[in-house]
Order: sequence, then structure tokens, then C-alpha cells
Amino acid sequence: MAHTYDPENIFAKILRGELPNKTVLETAHTLAFHDIYPQAPVHVLVIPKGPYVSYDHFAAEASDAEVLDYTRTISKVCEMLEVGEKGFRLISNAGELGVQEVPHLHVHILSGRPLGRMLN
Ligand code: 5GP
Repeated sequence: MAHTYDPENIFAKILRGELPNKTVLETAHTLAFHDIYPQAPVHVLVIPKGPYVSYDHFAAEASDAEVLDYTRTISKVCEMLEVGEKGFRLISNAGELGVQEVPHLHVHILSGRPLGRMLN
């Protein structure tokens, strides 16, 4: 998959402070914020601050510090949202077939209602 990063995507604008967001947690390399169109009572997006299009791009090119910070922050946000006991879903859409709307890596954290068996 092509990994050409578009610095004008919406999440890049959020990271530059050009668009507002409802922050849940910010760390050295990661930002977590509420989705603007929540699909469940809990719907938080977690993004790395670096210019990565998708999970495969990030896993291939990010530093160990970024990868560790990102994975731990996703876990920390799940803890903060108290979704561990009842359950949650992590989703990261990539590319055209994955129906990725915003071309900056993001993991959706969804919880607060039964999410069904399908991934859509
Ligand atoms: P994707 O389809 O790329 O996996 O998901 C993109 C997500 O970004 C969608 O759930 C959409 O609601 C969310 N989104 C799009 N624009 C904005 C925005 O400006 N602010 C926030 N907080 N979320 C957004």
C-alpha cells in the first residue's frame, strides 16, 4: 500500500492545533480524542503524532519509542474509559477496501453497547 502522507488531512490539522478536538489523553508521541460522530457510547480515536498513513506504515517506519508509546496509550485510554470489564473493540481501517476516511493512522476504541459480530 502507498504510504504517501498528506499533511492536509484532518488529523494532521488537529495535531497542529488548526482544528479543535476533545482530548482524552496526550503523551509524547500519541493523541487520543473523542470521535466527532460517535458510533457507540464510547468512541475514541487514538493517533500517533508522527506522519503515518496506516498501521503497516507505522509498524514499518516508526521508532521503538513511538510504537511503545502508541500501544501503551491505547491501553491506558481503555483503562481510563473503564471498558476492560464489559469489553471493547479496536479497529484500524486502511486504504480503499478498508474504507479509511482519514489518511492518518487511527485506532477506534468502541464500547458501551453490544457491537455485533460483524466488523463494520
Ligand atoms: P475511518 O473511516 O478513517 O476509519 O474513520 C475516521 C473517523 O474520523 C470517523 O469515525 C469520523 O467520524 C472521524 N472524524 C472525521 N472528522 C473528524 C474531526 O474533524 N474530528 C474528530 N474528532 N473526528 C473526526
